[in-house]
Amino acid sequence: MRIDVTDLARPTVRGLPAYNAGLSNAAVQQRYGVDRITRLGSNENPYGAGPAVHAALAALADDIWTYPDASCTALKAAIAAGTGVEPERILVGNGSENLLELLCLTFLQPGDRVVTQTPSFGLHVIYPQMMGASVETIALNTELEYAADAWVAAAASAPKMLILCNPSNPIGCRYRRADFARIVQAASAHTLLVIDEAYYEYALHDADYPDSLALLRDWPGAWIVLRTFSKAWGLAGLRVGYGLASHAALAALGDRVRTPFNVNQAAQRAALAAWQDPRHMREAVAATVRSREHMAASLKALGVPGLRVAPSAANFLWLDLGRENGAVNEALLARGFITKPWKDAGFENCLRVSVGLPDENQRFVEALDAILRAR
Ligand SMILES: *Cc1c(COP(=O)(O)O)cnc(C)c1O
Repeated sequence: MRIDVTDLARPTVRGLPAYNAGLSNAAVQQRYGVDRITRLGSNENPYGAGPAVHAALAALADDIWTYPDASCTALKAAIAAGTGVEPERILVGNGSENLLELLCLTFLQPGDRVVTQTPSFGLHVIYPQMMGASVETIALNTELEYAADAWVAAAASAPKMLILCNPSNPIGCRYRRADFARIVQAASAHTLLVIDEAYYEYALHDADYPDSLALLRDWPGAWIVLRTFSKAWGLAGLRVGYGLASHAALAALGDRVRTPFNVNQAAQRAALAAWQDPRHMREAVAATVRSREHMAASLKALGVPGLRVAPSAANFLWLDLGRENGAVNEALLARGFITKPWKDAGFENCLRVSVGLPDENQRFVEALDAILRAR
């Protein structure tokens, strides 16, 4: 008799939901028979990596027979110089997803409480659940923004981990500076504050976006700010993210649980080259922020009944379609548009769309208009 391998797994793993990673271009091409694919589903940066990254990777093949630097020495030194956070307090990961995983492995055990938002970034829920922690989620307010008072109350309830996503994925909203400060002030020193700033570079254009490092500097507890090279820096395919931690000991704990060579050579080289020449990133961010405002205005101007667009400080828009997203998504896919229809209960009417190149955004708005009017 063949054994059921699922029975051998830890009970918490058996019950885990799968991460919704979206569709590949090839899958959509094949299934829908479309030639032109417009990728607006994963919040990637369509302007790509800059010339400095291309140059840094040109000779990579000559050197890949050696292991990468397990300590990411050069990259940490560069990030330290740019952020003012000492290298000993920096943790680098195989994407910031890897850092979320390391934090959960290090700090969580069955019975621990974790608080985050709903709708949430999948891994903010899945990784804590993987460790047997229970996850409580805080709803947005009716303006599709953070309900600040609920966050202050949650912080005061002393969970083991509080995950603040700023700006929020998938909504795009952000904590205002004064609210972020109130939440930090209310938090217990027994709580690890995890601030996921995957879209930090886009939000800097917003005058009320909090400077988390400054606001956390004098807070006595443990915290870590997560940022990534996957979004604004255009390196999603290489997987590199970094954490800026309150204590060197926090980074050292992460070093114990991570796989030693978690950041590969291409990733370290490309991230360093990008960091040392940020011009391309800044131009891409400025263009995307302009496009986002234009796209949001165009969608609102359609005048489609029931269609709502959430305020966004990131490189994507959250849409409430006013109807179920399944058929709309199918119609978008048939036209080659990959977006992210939300699947969680309560959000079946919602769709997240990344801000792409101006012409892609324009075509998306026209396609959505046609689809919503046809039904
Ligand atoms: C994209 C994203 C990440 C993952 O980034 P990687 O560095 O590519 O792993 C983490 N958190 C949020 C909220 C994201 O949207």
